[in-house]
Amino acid sequence: MDSTMMDYPLTITTILRYGTTIFGDKEVVTCGGDESSRRRGYAAVGERAARLANALRELGVDGDQRVGTFMWNNAEHLEAYLAIPSMGAVLHTLNLRLAADQVGYIATHAADYAVIVDASLIPLFAKVLPLAQTIKHVIVSGAADAAALGTLEGPGHEVHSYESLLAAAAGSFDWPELDERSAAAMCYTSGTTGLPKGVAYSHRSSYLHSMAACTVNGLGVGEHDRIMPIVPQFHANAWGLPYAAMMSGADLVMPDRFMIPSVIVNLIETEKVTVGAGVPTIWQGVLAFLRASGGDISSLRTLICGGSALPESVMRAYRDEFGLTMTHAWGMTELSPLGSIAREPAGVTGEAVWPYRASQGRLFCGVEGRLSSDDGQILPSDGKAVGELECRGPWITGSYYQDSAPEKFHDGWLRTGDVGTLDAEGFVRLTDRAKDVIKSGGEWISSMELENLIMAHPAVAEAAVIGVPDEKWGERPLAAVVRAPGADPVTPDELRAYLSERIPRWQLPERWAFIDEVPKTSVGKFQKTTLRDRYASGSLEVTTLGALPH
Ligand code: AMP
Repeated sequence: MDSTMMDYPLTITTILRYGTTIFGDKEVVTCGGDESSRRRGYAAVGERAARLANALRELGVDGDQRVGTFMWNNAEHLEAYLAIPSMGAVLHTLNLRLAADQVGYIATHAADYAVIVDASLIPLFAKVLPLAQTIKHVIVSGAADAAALGTLEGPGHEVHSYESLLAAAAGSFDWPELDERSAAAMCYTSGTTGLPKGVAYSHRSSYLHSMAACTVNGLGVGEHDRIMPIVPQFHANAWGLPYAAMMSGADLVMPDRFMIPSVIVNLIETEKVTVGAGVPTIWQGVLAFLRASGGDISSLRTLICGGSALPESVMRAYRDEFGLTMTHAWGMTELSPLGSIAREPAGVTGEAVWPYRASQGRLFCGVEGRLSSDDGQILPSDGKAVGELECRGPWITGSYYQDSAPEKFHDGWLRTGDVGTLDAEGFVRLTDRAKDVIKSGGEWISSMELENLIMAHPAVAEAAVIGVPDEKWGERPLAAVVRAPGADPVTPDELRAYLSERIPRWQLPERWAFIDEVPKTSVGKFQKTTLRDRYASGSLEVTTLGALPH
């Protein structure tokens, strides 16, 4: 029997219309650094989105052309998020932290036709432009002097001012009826190995993902929230927060290019932010700042943290020192990105909450998960079997843009490359990236567990653990540690003694290195390949401890 329900498409256009009318008096605030913040109501955002769509039509965007953005988190980027998909084109957020040749490769692979660039990023983008031949229009947002604009001049493309284009365009747009399955936005994976791969989100997937984000068991954002996405809009759609805000009527507080702890704390204080979202290194930096300089973060309801494993010690520190509950989440570009979120089940209290809160969390309704062994056998979801997590669902990519990558899929499931356990309650506990696992004498050692334990030591700022070849055991863990500034210089012996109270003896690293900083990817994840290369080339100074006394 057919249903009687309307076949109403799920589109970004609906989010745009709803957010900019029903919540027209809500606002997006953009940090101005030393200058005062810029404030814009959602009604004005809606009108400017219409102007942007008209301007892009004038420039020849009349179908599914890719319109790139090379921008920080700000009001204009929000306008692009709304206008470009809603006019039927495809928003392509370019990662401004990648090297110019990689951005050039990505823009060319996606065949970007036009790109909106923040004026402050002109020096970076000028290096990309000669490597991105498909770009016909560069639209500069913000004030730029003639010299800077001159660096963008060249054959094959025109340079425009965002504000001039909007001023000349009409303030209403006849948004077309769109197929909900058509592409709305693109994002390339950050590509720690191999070339970045393109994920094309549909209107439908973005809509469903935004709804899931708004649910109470999801990010739980609503009309009373003022959300501050520190996670960049060029990284997996800022975890879907801009659309979730428009859908739920939450205000947005955007840091623009000022993503340093002092400014973040100041924004929280002055803008009364209720929800912040960012990777662990951001909140670790903010914690260090608060300890050193103080600050009022009492407006915060929670800090959402994902992108890499959030150490339990950081969560406990926020709770103990500031009474604030952090919310750990797991996801990936391929999952739009939300996959799971960590909250203890109802009725769990006291110390018993931590194994849940420190896990990667419970899978969302809409994200199905299973574990697969090395040889492709499906393992039980019993909280014990360790395997690669595979997922499927309506906001999970089923392929990559013009890149078949069969090794990334398994019978219609996405292979996440993340290794861990899954339990009957739907909780994911990751132990490693597939490429980071350490196998010592045939047994697995979790690099993430070691890292979290070492980072809980008060004299440690950061720690990354890699597997290195070992004659006897095949592989052994090497801990690369960043000492906490101002703390007594901790020694490998002390760290090993500290760990020995917490993990089995055979897992204790005997190789230790002290480094200035853990190398990170463009989006703040530990880049262990760099550490492995440094170890292999002998440029990492390693202390090897003898056997433990019995
Ligand atoms: P990206 O597509 O750049 O967002 O990277 C996705 C990857 O980041 C995942 O496959 C994980 O390896 C890692 N990741 C994201 N969130 C977490 C988390 N909460 N804990 C551990 N790893 C995470």
